Amino acid sequence: MLCVYCGHDETRVVDSRLVGEGRQIRRRRVCQACEERFTTFETVELSLPHVIKGNGEREPFNEAKLRAGMMRALEKRPVSTELIEQTIGGLLHDLSLTGEREISSRLVGESVMAALRRLDKVAYIRFASVYLRFEDLEAFIAEIERLQAPEVPA
Ligand SMILES: [Zn+2]
Repeated sequence: MLCVYCGHDETRVVDSRLVGEGRQIRRRRVCQACEERFTTFETVELSLPHVIKGNGEREPFNEAKLRAGMMRALEKRPVSTELIEQTIGGLLHDLSLTGEREISSRLVGESVMAALRRLDKVAYIRFASVYLRFEDLEAFIAEIERLQAPEVPA
């Protein structure tokens, strides 16, 4: 890393801390020659697959869209921002690890539903009702009943 002030190529890291919910490292550096200080950020580059939409169109993965959908479902729910960020981080991590260059929007939707289901049942139902576009009241009730059933049969 070249010093931004004098161009010297030796700098020393004097402080490192995790920022951006742990997905970024902020480093304070001091130049060995002129002793000026500057800051660098290091971010993990997740290579997220392209998304194939229902109509066959492809689009780059849109983290903002995923976040917006989840935040809408979680509005006023008792789930901490930290936990939400952790969940989103985990989702992005998992999707980047599929190793696929393209994934269906259905897979993304299902991953979000699975994550919300673990996080908050009300948020899950909100998201699912928009995402699955429950055809009728019966389908909606069936999903609610499925949720209320114990996950591991006694
Ligand atoms: Zn310097």
